Amino acid sequence: MAKYEYQTEIGQLLQLMTHSLYSHREIFLRELISNANDALDKFKYLHLTDEKFKNETWDPKINIKIDKEDNSLAVTDNGIGMNEEDLIHNLGTIAKSGTKAFLEQLTGDAKKDNNLIGQFGVGFYSVFMVAERVDVITKKAGEDQAWKFSSDGTGEYEITPVIKDEHGTVVYLKLKEDAKEFLDHWRVKEIVKKYSDHIPYPIFLHYEEE
Ligand code: ADP
Ligand code: MG
Repeated sequence: MAKYEYQTEIGQLLQLMTHSLYSHREIFLRELISNANDALDKFKYLHLTDEKFKNETWDPKINIKIDKEDNSLAVTDNGIGMNEEDLIHNLGTIAKSGTKAFLEQLTGDAKKDNNLIGQFGVGFYSVFMVAERVDVITKKAGEDQAWKFSSDGTGEYEITPVIKDEHGTVVYLKLKEDAKEFLDHWRVKEIVKKYSDHIPYPIFLHYEEE
């Protein structure tokens, strides 16, 4: 296992973000679906153009799983996936994320800031508004080793080698006490519907029947 530090005052960013977006926290799901969509697009291209992947039977999809007992929500795609380096560059570097650009544009004027939310991809980091811990389990297409990125959104994150069969990514969120609304499948269904109009891949919602 390796430990890394985020390079900016990440705690402050999270506070700002939570403060300005609190009533729009649901957009974390929009961001995760959007990232899954991008990852599927990237693998789709390889699948069409790269000899190495042309013969793979591939059924692109996004799965969302609610686990009430575990207090968790997971978004899974079978897209391009990430290796260790990708995790550090893409998830460990806040400047890469839409979050930073978004925060730089914030005015403190609630009305203006609300408009910004629609315009900006707020990015992966928005998951920390609803999650006390995030695990990203991922394997890059064409590579053998899979990795787990774990973070609570504050100073440090960890990267560990793990085992995973398929290429693609699982984003597992351990929800905060005050974010239990996202365990309600009606609520989640509504959010998915609201933000996935333009997503060309099937999205499946899994939950235990009550
Ligand atoms: P953006 O999508 O605007 O680039 P994000 O913060 O949403 O910013 O994501 C940062 C980066 O992390 C993405 O550009 C991508 O490289 C990587 N990433 C995030 N989610 C996934 C995923 N599900 N599969 C593969 N890569 C991902
Ligand atoms: Mg994104």
